[in-house]
Amino acid sequence: MYNPQQYNIEDIPEKPFVDCDEIESFLLRGKNGSFEQVRSVICKALNRERLSLYETSVLVNVTDKNLREEIKEAAGELKKKIYGNRIVLFAPLYTGNYCINECSYCGFSCKNQRVDRTSLTFDEIKEQVTALESCGHKRVVVSMGEHPCYGSGYIADLLKTIYSVKEGKGAIRRINVNAAPLDVEGFRKVKDAGVGTYQIFQETYNKKRYREVHRSGKKRDYEWRLTAFDRALKAGLDDVGLGVLLGLYDWRYEVLGLIRHVNHLESTYNVGPHTISFPRLKSALGVNFENNEYDVSDEDFVFLVAVLRLAVPYTGMILTAREPAAIRDMVLRYGVSQIDGGSKIGVGGYSSSCSYMGIEKKHGREQFALNDMRSLDEVIHELIKNGYLPSFCTACYRLGRTGEHFMEFSVPGFIKRFCFSNAILTFAEYLEDYASVLVKQKGYNLIDKNLRQYRGKEGEKVITLLNRIRNGERDLFL
Ligand code: SAM
Ligand code: SF4
Repeated sequence: MYNPQQYNIEDIPEKPFVDCDEIESFLLRGKNGSFEQVRSVICKALNRERLSLYETSVLVNVTDKNLREEIKEAAGELKKKIYGNRIVLFAPLYTGNYCINECSYCGFSCKNQRVDRTSLTFDEIKEQVTALESCGHKRVVVSMGEHPCYGSGYIADLLKTIYSVKEGKGAIRRINVNAAPLDVEGFRKVKDAGVGTYQIFQETYNKKRYREVHRSGKKRDYEWRLTAFDRALKAGLDDVGLGVLLGLYDWRYEVLGLIRHVNHLESTYNVGPHTISFPRLKSALGVNFENNEYDVSDEDFVFLVAVLRLAVPYTGMILTAREPAAIRDMVLRYGVSQIDGGSKIGVGGYSSSCSYMGIEKKHGREQFALNDMRSLDEVIHELIKNGYLPSFCTACYRLGRTGEHFMEFSVPGFIKRFCFSNAILTFAEYLEDYASVLVKQKGYNLIDKNLRQYRGKEGEKVITLLNRIRNGERDLFL
């Protein structure tokens, strides 16, 4: 059983648990996997067993078109078995773009003279949150550069500020953070302030490449970033999100790096990551990554999502509007369980009344370019058309159901009883308060269809709660 008390700061691994040579050698060994071997790995994954580093390596090395299709289909089947048709929705919220680091791929790099630097005041942040609540969002990921002015105290105050905003019937009920690594005390502070998932992307697990692309600043320290979640877990923050930035190094290596990191957290703390993110490198103001040898093609991208789904069946997978709609729809089929909708990533991008706004200026505040500009309602419409059930559920985190092997996966019937039901209830809230006429009508048709899956008492309970939502009550969940 995970108990933060039992760990001391001194326990934080001094030596990195990712050995780059070891990963390269796994990558090489996986190249010799036979058809039979690949199929037996697929079978193991379909039995919901976690895959080892070697087994994952066998999958990432598959180049045969038909075999890749089999892997994708298996991933789609596994996803359906475990998650059903729910897709969780969130919005990113950038609060400031000051940064001390020189990351060669990022528009916020301290060496980028063309970026319009700003930090939102807490009043401006409230305006942004009001705008987000007005379109129906309940879950945000706040993000910012790395800078002394964005320390743990700032993040804790930010969380309190965002939770305090209540626009109409809206509220942000869960705030995830994507920010710089903290020390143990800092993680404790943001946990106490009510953080959801704390996300930190390693960007690349290859140390040599890491040092090439992180040219100066604190982020240049590979180990400090790699051991961030050891410090978080020792601080009692057991809800963490891993990630890599695809396009910095060989994607096959990065997939193995992620699995190595998951293995470390599971074996040391008995807690796996809540989510994995895998953004592809996008163009950004002042960033030049032309003719990049590590670019990940659409085909490989969709395939790697499928491999990850099979390798870590119980970890949420996040895709953002960095990807165009067509790609998003494809990876939803094979593994992704959370997406954003109606995203604006310019600092201050959501509300037009912020004093400094203006199209040209706003553009200079973005970290990179987005490829899916659809509104939340349009994204939801698309999900409905494809039979997905949009979910704004935040119940587990609010009821303290986090950490060691998420309840949803360890308790038989949990997903049906809680996740699926709460998806229906929170989607109904959206339909009542924010949806366009068309989406409301189609959305309720979808809910009716999904209600047919219940037998007996559970269905009755959900229908009672649904009626209460239609009569104006909010925030009802199981
Ligand atoms: N500054 C913090 C950090 O670096 O961890 C917080 C978050 S940063 C705003 C969020 C993530 O954006 C980074 O971890 C990186 O993976 C991603 N990112 C940076 N530049 C990007 C680009 N050009 N295209 C796609 N993603 C990018
Ligand atoms: Fe700063 Fe993060 Fe961008 Fe690096 S990725 S320059 S740390 S905002």
